[in-house]
Amino acid sequence: MLRITELRLPLDHPEEALKSAIIERLGIAATELRAFTVFKRSYDARKAAALSFIYTIDLAVANEATVLTRFAGDRHVNPAPDTTYHFVTQAPATMATRPVIVGFGPCGIFAALVLAQMGFRPIVLERGKAVRERTQDTWGLWRKKVLNPESNVQFGEGGAGTFSDGKLYSQIKDPKHYGRKVLTEFVKAGAPEEILYVSKPHIGTFRLVGMVETMRAEIESLGGEIRFQQRVTDVRIEDGHIRAVVLAGGEEIRTDRVVLALGHSARDTVEMLHERGVFMEAKPFSVGFRIEHPQSLIDRARLGKHAGHPLLGAADYKIVHHARNGRSVYSFCMCPGGTVVAATSEPNRVVTNGMSQYSRNERNANAGIVVGITPADYPGGPLAGIALQRELESRAFVLGGGTYEAPGQLVGDFIAGRPSTALGSVEPSYKPGVRLGDLSTALPAYAIEAMREALPAFERQIKGFAMHDAVLTGVETRTSSPVRITRGEDLQSLNVKGLYPAGEGAGYAGGILSAGVDGIRVAEAVACDINKAA
Ligand SMILES: Cc1cc2nc3c(=O)[nH]c(=O)nc-3n(C[C@H](O)[C@H](O)[C@H](O)COP(=O)(O)OP(=O)(O)OC[C@H]3O[C@@H](n4cnc5c(N)ncnc54)[C@H](O)[C@@H]3O)c2cc1C
Repeated sequence: MLRITELRLPLDHPEEALKSAIIERLGIAATELRAFTVFKRSYDARKAAALSFIYTIDLAVANEATVLTRFAGDRHVNPAPDTTYHFVTQAPATMATRPVIVGFGPCGIFAALVLAQMGFRPIVLERGKAVRERTQDTWGLWRKKVLNPESNVQFGEGGAGTFSDGKLYSQIKDPKHYGRKVLTEFVKAGAPEEILYVSKPHIGTFRLVGMVETMRAEIESLGGEIRFQQRVTDVRIEDGHIRAVVLAGGEEIRTDRVVLALGHSARDTVEMLHERGVFMEAKPFSVGFRIEHPQSLIDRARLGKHAGHPLLGAADYKIVHHARNGRSVYSFCMCPGGTVVAATSEPNRVVTNGMSQYSRNERNANAGIVVGITPADYPGGPLAGIALQRELESRAFVLGGGTYEAPGQLVGDFIAGRPSTALGSVEPSYKPGVRLGDLSTALPAYAIEAMREALPAFERQIKGFAMHDAVLTGVETRTSSPVRITRGEDLQSLNVKGLYPAGEGAGYAGGILSAGVDGIRVAEAVACDINKAA
């Protein structure tokens, strides 16, 4: 197989133009092109006036060696890398104990799936409910202001990303192409095939629900076991080795290997692990607000005359500003054509995040606008970041009126430093509602200062970004885990053997794709370790 990169074609090219372009690029006869697939299709939004698709194509040709020799030194024609997934091992005939995975978000799902595919029959313990029941509970907060602390946007089958935009890209280094395995499994489970080749794939929340159920069924068909409403409340560590997990109901499950795929909101579990002496340290994260604009404004700014093109869809953005006070302000988890969602898992706290459907056709674009903070901002040990998150989320609850409404302010008023009293042209989407006022006390002063400087600066990158009527809601605190449960090169906890901290909660992923990739990595480590001991 060969790979051609940087093959450019106009946005509205007919389908057959791709084949012609490949033939022309390689200077071969049509009969010599045996087959081709699009590996990636992207576009460069920085050139809105002259947008074109940029293709990476994998293809088979007659006389591959001759073609390669002819293109020696051309960095855009090369042998295609092998991106298929190869299992590292298979389960031994007998195992002393089955591996246990705590958490069934993307990290736990992929750890379980890959272990099951290798024959290791994992046991998954998930504190929340199966995804359909969980959906009802999540709507309970959005529609009726009733929070179920064990079944919500953060907790339950599918993990935190289930009610999301389902963006599936990441900037992690992935030399073993594990990301491809994640995307391929998603397609098998019902995701649109295009996620394999568009440069910024997304699935949307509606499809994610069905996919998660399909993946659960595959794990079970391979001998895995998935138990819902099973919160791990304790661990048994003997001579520096994990030997069991304990459930809220008192049941103890003996095991020698535990994958901790907890996500960034399992604060009680992290506190328990800290009490048990599992090594962890505070890590940086970010705090800020969600911002909402009309999607049409973002489309015009990013895509120019191509705004609304069906193949481009609703436009996204990624922006950063380095403020004079030394803080970086950046957009986080941008959701084109989406809604802002209530994302708390703890009573009497307010947290914002964003989600979209596959169609991304809601009227507003939303994104977190967040400020990077580090443990120097919250000294006091490994759990101090959690304490700060809780403080800010509680403050937001009070500012929002104490009913799970989010505090909000118009961008023009926020920059001018006066409270908002009435909405303008942008209708915020956050449910159960937004209470307008003054957000200046919702975050530490340095974060407010940096945001007041950044919003007008973003106007220079996206015309209209600092429009008076754009709406800020807060607070955005769960951008990533404030804790790292540090692991060594064997991917085990630094001081508890057999314990594999993984995914976003342990500080080793940031997003659905990277959490899935980390799940695969950890599954391989667990499998090899079991085989070594067998
Ligand atoms: C609203 C929203 C939108 C998002 N949008 C996107 C997006 O578009 N793209 C993207 O890449 N990322 C998005 N994210 C982030 C993404 O969801 C996370 O990065 C990802 O889910 C992390 O995966 P994980 O498996 O490490 O943890 P999680 O998905 O958080 O899963 C952890 C699981 O562990 C369970 N658990 C925790 N403690 C225990 C315990 N003691 N016992 C048993 N089970 C336990 C939880 O119930 C949960 O199901 C979004 C997040 C949210 C909240």
